[in-house]
Amino acid sequence: MMRAVIHLLLHVAVPGGVARVFFGKVFLRAWLIMLATMLVDLDHLFADPVYDPGRCSIGFHPLHQYPVMLLYGALALWPKTRLVGVGLVIHMLLDGIDCLWMQYEN
Ligand SMILES: [Zn+2]
Repeated sequence: MMRAVIHLLLHVAVPGGVARVFFGKVFLRAWLIMLATMLVDLDHLFADPVYDPGRCSIGFHPLHQYPVMLLYGALALWPKTRLVGVGLVIHMLLDGIDCLWMQYEN
């Protein structure tokens, strides 16, 4: 339970921190765009159960596969799609940390 709450907070706070440090005056807009990338978790709707705290998202859900992550990294390279790409890369990193953490919990 605690891990799930911290995970969710990180999904909000880390993009906020990155926006604050790297995006100066437009930080709020940058943060909101990165928050919107949490929509990739909509791929959980194809899973049963939709949410399982003991399941690692990485490599399980369709938008959390390694090949798709290369695309997220590529999006981060172009200025126009950078925020979406960076937001998605942060998301995958945080989900990955969550997977490592759950291994130590069990
Ligand atoms: Zn996720």
